[in-house]
Amino acid sequence: MNVSISSRIVIVGGGVAGLAAANRLVEERARGELPLEIILLEAEPRLGGVIRTVRRDGFLIESGPDSFITEKPWAIDLCRRLGLEGELIGTNEACRRSFIIRGGRLMPVPEAFYLLAPARLGPFLSTPIFSWPGKFRMMLDLFLPRRKVDADESLASFVRRRLGKEALERMAQPMVAGIYTADPERLSLRATFPRFHEMERVHGSMIRALRARVRNPSARGQEASGPRYGLFATLRSGMQTIPDTLSARLTDVTIRTGVRVSELRPGGTGSRWLVRTTAGGEIPADALCLAIPADRAGALLNGTDPILAQALGRIPYASTITLHAAYRREDVPHPLTGFGFVVPAVENRDILACTFASVKFPGRAPDGTVLLRAFLGGATRPDLAQRDDAELEAAVHRELCVLLGIEAEPLFVEIHRHPQSMAQYLVGHPDRVREITARVLAHPGLALAGNGYEGIGVPDCIHSGERAAEELLRDFPQVLPLQEHS
Ligand SMILES: Cc1cc2nc3c(=O)[nH]c(=O)nc-3n(C[C@H](O)[C@H](O)[C@H](O)COP(=O)(O)OP(=O)(O)OC[C@H]3O[C@@H](n4cnc5c(N)ncnc54)[C@H](O)[C@@H]3O)c2cc1C
Repeated sequence: MNVSISSRIVIVGGGVAGLAAANRLVEERARGELPLEIILLEAEPRLGGVIRTVRRDGFLIESGPDSFITEKPWAIDLCRRLGLEGELIGTNEACRRSFIIRGGRLMPVPEAFYLLAPARLGPFLSTPIFSWPGKFRMMLDLFLPRRKVDADESLASFVRRRLGKEALERMAQPMVAGIYTADPERLSLRATFPRFHEMERVHGSMIRALRARVRNPSARGQEASGPRYGLFATLRSGMQTIPDTLSARLTDVTIRTGVRVSELRPGGTGSRWLVRTTAGGEIPADALCLAIPADRAGALLNGTDPILAQALGRIPYASTITLHAAYRREDVPHPLTGFGFVVPAVENRDILACTFASVKFPGRAPDGTVLLRAFLGGATRPDLAQRDDAELEAAVHRELCVLLGIEAEPLFVEIHRHPQSMAQYLVGHPDRVREITARVLAHPGLALAGNGYEGIGVPDCIHSGERAAEELLRDFPQVLPLQEHS
């Protein structure tokens, strides 16, 4: 039996959200000299969750995220606090553009086209990505009335309503699949692109709103970090530098890897929670941060609050795969003058997107070689997660042969599977999150973090972990003696 006078906070999940929560607690503990014991439990043998950097034959491979958006400040702020500012790099200035597939060919996304609609008419009118009737329909956005109903809707419904079917099929769907790996017919506009909802509400037109934004860059807001690195940034030595640096800093946090939490129960006397692990141990805790996927948090809470568990279970996850293929430069006929391409579903291909990884960021491949990263699976292609490695490799090879003219065999291929990793924010997601948040308030000493709630990107997940830590500290109980049984 181990008696301590400090309060114990247990964090479940050692992805970036859980690590950010632990780091915030450590920062606050040092500032306020708080008597806190912090334990982090991670099911896998390594920390970082889906963030993982692999080095192979001089290549730097990002198994999960390869970068993060700089408009949201939390990842850059954390990197600064961790002393990693000098490690941050932006995208390659010389090639800042992307392609989209039409008729099996790569076409550049028109300049000043913001995901759904154009901010400048010249490049939009001259692009072959849309037909003339499609362009005409998109321009009707300037005249269509605002939507009267103030309820969430799917991204597909919004785009069809304002810009037409072709805008959805040829641009919005593939762009969104490349970010959320989601089906736009089910994806919540409010949860994923609240800015577009706001643009319609304020300007009555997407095109008018985007044109105003381009004319007045200061109105874009929140871009303090953005211009310095471009829209996306990463770390010179790879994204895993973030979890590695965090875990090295958390020396006085008890980190246990390879320990899966199997059950949570309200504690008896002396602690609010009992955390049971598959190893058979039971850890009393005064506060709990669940930094794991929402549906898995729901499963753990089922015995304590079935209504909360049910609400959490209504946030589904999709599986994704990244396949990296390395080539000799002379074996790739395409000039690769961009960051990569996305593939509309109407093109009936097996890949969702492909990043020209060694063009997008420096230091990803040795001189004279290139590294390509194909993105597969997601909500619309769950069948791909069922294919074995040889089938996936053959499928991607076929696609790269048609799309980039590559006939040579790659130097090597690396496949990374991410089962049930991408939260799907379905229509009504903001209401679901409000319901979950209200329900969590009924359980003092409980906080949720991770990609299931208010953003799936790395900066959002960092923010969610830091906020969860702050919530737990605000609501902290009296310092109690704790007991540990194992
Ligand atoms: C292939 C891919 C590419 C992506 N690309 C980008 C990108 O370029 N930019 C970007 O910003 N975002 C990207 N994302 C999204 C972003 O990386 C993730 O949303 C984010 O890293 C998730 O962090 P997390 O801590 O919430 O969850 P995770 O990383 O999933 O971590 C959760 C951890 O909890 C552990 N766990 C689960 N259950 C238990 C349990 N019962 N007991 C103990 N531990 C448990 C898991 O093992 C895992 O380590 C990408 C995601 C994927 C999958």
